[in-house]
Amino acid sequence: MAPTFKNCILVCCSAKVSVRNEDMAQESYEEAIAGLSKLLSEKADLQDAAAAKIRQITAELAGTTACSNGFDPVDRIKTGFTHFKKSKFETNPDLYGQLAKGQSPKFLVFACSDSRVCPSHILNFQPGEAFVVRNIANMVPPFDKTKYSGAGAAIEYAVLHLKVENIVVIGHSCCGGIKGLMSIPDDGAFSSDFIENWVQICTPAKNKTQSNCNDLSFEDKCTECEKEAVNVSLGNLLSYPFVREAVVNKKVFIRGAHYNFVSGAFELWNLDFNISPSLAV
Ligand SMILES: [Zn+2]
Repeated sequence: MAPTFKNCILVCCSAKVSVRNEDMAQESYEEAIAGLSKLLSEKADLQDAAAAKIRQITAELAGTTACSNGFDPVDRIKTGFTHFKKSKFETNPDLYGQLAKGQSPKFLVFACSDSRVCPSHILNFQPGEAFVVRNIANMVPPFDKTKYSGAGAAIEYAVLHLKVENIVVIGHSCCGGIKGLMSIPDDGAFSSDFIENWVQICTPAKNKTQSNCNDLSFEDKCTECEKEAVNVSLGNLLSYPFVREAVVNKKVFIRGAHYNFVSGAFELWNLDFNISPSLAV
């Protein structure tokens, strides 16, 4: 049986307690302890049961303390799904009935894992419209059957099985992954277990930015590299034989994009590596 939220135990907690309430709580706490002590002094045979109850209460209070900042993740998930189900799932039976039978998305999208750049939000993709891969700095690794199988499997499935017609790689402003790439020291010494090893996929973009934009500030270099890294990913897409064949046969169109969440702009360009935007909003 699928799990439901009804099975969940929700712990209520409040971050704001007035001084007056604290006083009242102190009084009632002392009264409760005094009452318990009186009871146990009169009925010693209840001590084992009391000890078990106290351990249970202690464990529950420890759980309450864990969300003392007022944020309850389980409640947040429950509220979010309830909102989606009532406002979208239950009001679009045709769409969700169709999607229950299968998917036929027009887009394969590569986007960064950054919490601010969800493509379904910024491009208003509806369920079923976009097959999405999200990773650090929205990178497409080159074809390599010995590594990067997660990305390779997604591209293979999207192109050969779902037969998407468009592949879009979307970079974005203030990308931490690109900043990490630009910050790798010249001696190549890594200070992370995975991040630098991953983002070095787009080292050619870093090198191009360093040689072409040497007079820019580090921040502006990062912005340039965010776009050049998209172009490296577009090139890497063509290293997949089935992508290359689909592009040559005009079955798939490849585009690069850059979303600036500071200025609220979106640039889109074609595979010809022309940075001049074909769409700038
Ligand atoms: Zn990013």
